[in-house]
Amino acid sequence: MIKSKPLWRLNVGGKNKRQKIRRDNRDIKREKQEQLDSENVDTKLKLTEFVSVSELAGLLDVPVSQVITTCLSLGIIVSINQRLDAEIIELVAGEFGHEVEFISAEDDVEEENIIVDSEEDLSPRAPIVTVMGHVDHGKTSLLDYIRSANVASGEAGGITQHIGAYEVKVGPDQKKITFLDTPGHEAFTAMRARGAKVTDVAVIIIAADDHLMPQTKEAISHSQAAGVPMVFAINKIDKPGADPERIKQELAAMNLLVEDWGGTYQSQDISAKQGLHVDKLLEKILLEAEVLDLKANPDRQGVGTVIEASLDKGKGYVTKILVQNGSVEIGDSLVAGPYSGKIKAMFNEHGKKVKKAGPSTPTLILGLSGAPQAGEKFKVMDTDQEARQLAAKRAQIEREQSNRASKRISLDEIGRRLALGTFKELNLIVKGDVDGSIEALSDSLIKLSVETIQVNVIHKAVGAIAETDVLLASASDAIIIGFQVRPSANARNLAEREGVQIKTYSIIYEAIEEIKSAMEGMLEPTKEEKIVAQVEVRETDTMSKIGTIAGCYVTEGKITRNTHVRVIRDGIVIFPVKEGAHGELSSLKRFKEDAKEVKGGFECGITIKNYNDIKTGDIIEGYEIIEIKQTLK
Ligand code: GDP
Repeated sequence: MIKSKPLWRLNVGGKNKRQKIRRDNRDIKREKQEQLDSENVDTKLKLTEFVSVSELAGLLDVPVSQVITTCLSLGIIVSINQRLDAEIIELVAGEFGHEVEFISAEDDVEEENIIVDSEEDLSPRAPIVTVMGHVDHGKTSLLDYIRSANVASGEAGGITQHIGAYEVKVGPDQKKITFLDTPGHEAFTAMRARGAKVTDVAVIIIAADDHLMPQTKEAISHSQAAGVPMVFAINKIDKPGADPERIKQELAAMNLLVEDWGGTYQSQDISAKQGLHVDKLLEKILLEAEVLDLKANPDRQGVGTVIEASLDKGKGYVTKILVQNGSVEIGDSLVAGPYSGKIKAMFNEHGKKVKKAGPSTPTLILGLSGAPQAGEKFKVMDTDQEARQLAAKRAQIEREQSNRASKRISLDEIGRRLALGTFKELNLIVKGDVDGSIEALSDSLIKLSVETIQVNVIHKAVGAIAETDVLLASASDAIIIGFQVRPSANARNLAEREGVQIKTYSIIYEAIEEIKSAMEGMLEPTKEEKIVAQVEVRETDTMSKIGTIAGCYVTEGKITRNTHVRVIRDGIVIFPVKEGAHGELSSLKRFKEDAKEVKGGFECGITIKNYNDIKTGDIIEGYEIIEIKQTLK
C-alpha cells in the first residue's frame, strides 16, 4: 500500500518543492502501477466531471495533499472542497497512472448503491411492456382496448386514471402484465428512448394495410439497441386491403423472420379496434416474458423509474412512477433526480389509494419536492435526511454541469459564429405543466436554430413561472415561455420592472410558430438587386461644362432620376468598377427639360456623375437594391 507522505515534506519551498512533488508522484505512480499490474485491475477511473479535490483523492487512493500539490505543480491553486474541471481531473489522474472515464451524476450515485439480491429473496414479477410503432398504426387503440377489456372484466370499480402505466391480468392464471402507456408519440422520442430501459418486452405494432414505416423501423432499432425482445402485432386485419403476409415479408427483408415464416420472432395478427386476437397477443407477450425469467425482491427498498411528473394545484407535485425492484410504501423517503420527499399518498391507476407498491407496479405518488424528468430513476432511502442530501448533491452537480456546459458553448461556439458576422442568440426559459410537453417544446424550439441564430433553452422545469425564473431571464437576456402555466403576481410585477418578456401558450404548435416568426425578425434581411431599366446609348455629345451627355432610348422598364446605374459595354460592366459602388445620374432630361422618370419606348438625355467615357452602343442599366426579409426554412 501507499503510505501517506508526512505533511512537512511537502513544505519544501520553490523549485525543490516542485521537483520533490514530481518525484513523490512518480514514486506513487510507479507503486500504483505495480500494484495494479499485479492485481491486473482496470486502471480506468469512472467519475463524474467536477468531482471535488477530496473526492478525487479518495478515488485515486492518495492523500488529499498529494492532489493539491499536484495541482500546484500544474500551476493551479485549489482548495480541498473545490470541484475540478474535466481537463484538470484528467491531468491529475494521469499523474497517478489512471485513465479517466466521465459518467453522469446519476450513474455515479447509482453505482454507490447497487444491492445484489440473493436468489432466495427473489420472486417472479410482471413483465413491463411498451407498445411502439408508426403513428396511426394503432398504439393508442391497442392500449385502450387492453385497458378497457381489463376494466370490464371486473378488475377496477373506478374511473381509470392516466398514470403512465397500467397493470392487466391475463388468462385463467391471472398473470400480470404492466403496460407503459406513454402519451403521444413522435413528440416524445426522448422519453421513448429512455423508456426502453424500463421495458422488458416491446410490442411493435404495424398496420396490415400499410408498410413498415420510418417510425416502425425506428422502434425496431430502439428495441434491438436496448436488447429488448420484440413481439410483432400486425394490426387492422379487419380492414379490407389488410395484408399481414406482406408485412411479414417486409420484416423478413429486414432479417426479422417471424415464427410463421420459420423464424424466432413471435407475431400476432390482431384488430385493436375490434379486440380480435388481442388475447392471443397477450399470451405471446407472457410467453416472451417467461423466457426472460423476470424476478425481483419485493422486500427491499424500492427502486424504479419516473414515468411522468407534474404540478397539481391542490396536490403539489404529482409523480407517476413505475417500481422495478423492491417496494415503495407510504412514508418512505424517496429521491428522484435532484428532488426528494416523504411519500404522503399513493394511488393506483384506478384512482384508489394504496399503501404499498411492489415490483412492476405503476403508482402515482405525492410528496416529492419537485418534478423529476421523465425517465429519471428513483430510489427509496433509509432516512429523509439521506434522501435530501443525495438530492441536493445531484442538484448541485446538475447546476454546476449546466453552468459550465453553457459557458463552454458560449465561448467556443459563439466565438466561431461571431466570426461569421451576424450571429445572434435567443435564450429561452421554458416552464410547463408536465415534463413531457416541456421536453417536446424545448426540443422543437432548439431545433429552430439556424447557422446565424442559436436557440438556447437555458432552463426548463415543471411549475408556475416564479420570480427566480424572471431573475434568471433578466440576467441572461432570455424570454420566458410558459406552457399551460402562468406567472405568479410577484413574478409578473418583477418581469415588468426588469423588462423581461413572458409569453404563455396552451398549444405547442403556436409557441413554435411564434418563436419562429420572432427569429425571422432577428435574421438580417438579404439585399438583392432588381434591374429596373435598360437604356441604350444612341449618340453622345460632350460639353465642356457638363461632360458627356448621352442621347438614349429606354428599351425596357423605367429609369428615374435616383436609380442606381451602371454602364455596360459589350456585355462587360465598365462603370462603376469598384466593388459595391453604385453609379448615379447627374441629370435626366426629356427634350432639354429635367425629368423625374422616363419610361420604356421613350428617348432621354443622360449624364452620369463622375463618368464621361460613355460611347454609342453602351447599355446603361438602372437598378434598385431591395431588402428581402429572410424566413426560416
Ligand atoms: P396510434 O397513432 O398508433 O396511437 O394509432 P391509433 O390507435 O390512434 O389509431 C389510428 C387510427 O386507426 C384510428 O382511427 C383507429 O380507429 C384506427 N385503428 C386502430 N386499430 C384499428 C383496427 O384494428 N382496425 C381498424 N379498422 N382501424 C383501426
